Amino acid sequence: MRSSQIVRSGLLRHTTSPDATPIAESVPDGPVIALYAATAELDTLRHALSPLPHAVLEPCAWQPGASLPERRFEAAIVTDSVDRPLELCAAVSLHCPVLLVTQNPDFEFRLAATRAGVDAVLFRPLDANELVDWLERNMDRRNSQRLSILVLDDDCVLADLYAVALQEAGMEVQVVDTATAAFERLNAALPDLILMDVQMPGVDGIETARMIRQSRRYLSVPIVFVSGERDAVRQMEARRFGGDEFLSKPVDLDHLVALVRLRAERAKLMRSIMERDSLTGLLNHSRFKERLAHELERCRRTGGEISLAMIDIDLFKQINDTHGHLIGDRVIRALSSSLAAGLRKIDIIGRYGGEEFGVILLDTAPQSAHAVIDKQRQRFAEIEFDAAGCRFGTSFSAGLAGSRHCPSVDDIILAADSALYAAKQGGRNRTIVSPDTDGPLGAQDRDHIR
Ligand code: GH3
Ligand code: MG
Ligand code: MG
Repeated sequence: MRSSQIVRSGLLRHTTSPDATPIAESVPDGPVIALYAATAELDTLRHALSPLPHAVLEPCAWQPGASLPERRFEAAIVTDSVDRPLELCAAVSLHCPVLLVTQNPDFEFRLAATRAGVDAVLFRPLDANELVDWLERNMDRRNSQRLSILVLDDDCVLADLYAVALQEAGMEVQVVDTATAAFERLNAALPDLILMDVQMPGVDGIETARMIRQSRRYLSVPIVFVSGERDAVRQMEARRFGGDEFLSKPVDLDHLVALVRLRAERAKLMRSIMERDSLTGLLNHSRFKERLAHELERCRRTGGEISLAMIDIDLFKQINDTHGHLIGDRVIRALSSSLAAGLRKIDIIGRYGGEEFGVILLDTAPQSAHAVIDKQRQRFAEIEFDAAGCRFGTSFSAGLAGSRHCPSVDDIILAADSALYAAKQGGRNRTIVSPDTDGPLGAQDRDHIR
């Protein structure tokens, strides 16, 4: 039996990982941040963190020697208003990134903080922007560590063994047993790596790799072959046709996990440099348009429907002029995190231009998309920003169009853009559906546009 070819190198293998534990269903969607601070300081912290409206702030009590809450946190903020803060940092840093807020700038203290596992130190008086910047960076880092792997093997037993080993190491794994099923998954979402058997009935691994490499969209996904193939010529052939690595059976699971992680992380990093906007981490303009074309093509094939929202921050130039570009950037990032947290995971968000964003809402008619985007608009308008003590809020306008009436990329962008223009003309801070759309909201918005 093929599964007996697996070797475990036992002791070296990590069988548990903090990332492997699924979050319980009762836990809220947003990242949970532990706040260890004296009660009197909690309001200041809450206020400073208001640009992260999706984050769940959880005040935590702690006594020296006491155990920590069992809940998983995305990050922790510890202030020196608690008893023996460094002792607490040492315990918390084993579980998540820690930021320490302190009065004490001494070198000795900073060294002690470093040794206690503190990731960042902020001195009083607390700079809210620095605090939010740090949290955004660290929360993003944790999210981006979750790698997604597609396993293709006709032997279910083996595929499951690989899957379990990779999941235990904190990766998200999908298993398929035919090339056709693999393409269906690839079409739905790109994994960070494909782990694939070479010998399979019907379409074999090498043929599958050749087909994958025919598409520009799939070029950057690494393919790792797992095979009993000993013939060096065949192995070379597998690489020539798009395989990046070749693992021979029997497979050492530790080696497999390490190799997959290394390759997938590298590929993910390279892809994010190519596809993502550096300020927000969202899809950049060209990748967003590619995704839009891809989704419209899918609608054409399947008869499905998508909506496109074009979103533009209102009077953003004034924010830059009044508070400076850094604060402007902060507002752009806040909108990006707010959208990422408030929309479904399957929705596609891109930074379309400077302070303009695009959202593709899958399987959503414009009438429903209106409700979704308008809720995001209200949430964003409630955020209070802090620029050197001066508090201000802002808003965005949005225009929507649907694929039923605008089946091409150019049509749907033009229609959503025109609706956005109408929203600006109508006084800003509103969401308007393109008049080329049927339904009650379309009809109502026709009035706005006139
Ligand atoms: P409207 O409500 O009509 O959209 O007004 P607006 O001021 O938002 O529009 P306008 O297009 O006049 O100004 C957009 C400004 O956004 C101009 C540009 O300097 C600024 N901007 C573009 N990209 C960035 C960025 O990455 N960071 C910052 N801070 N500002 C940016
Ligand atoms: Mg604007
Ligand atoms: Mg603009």
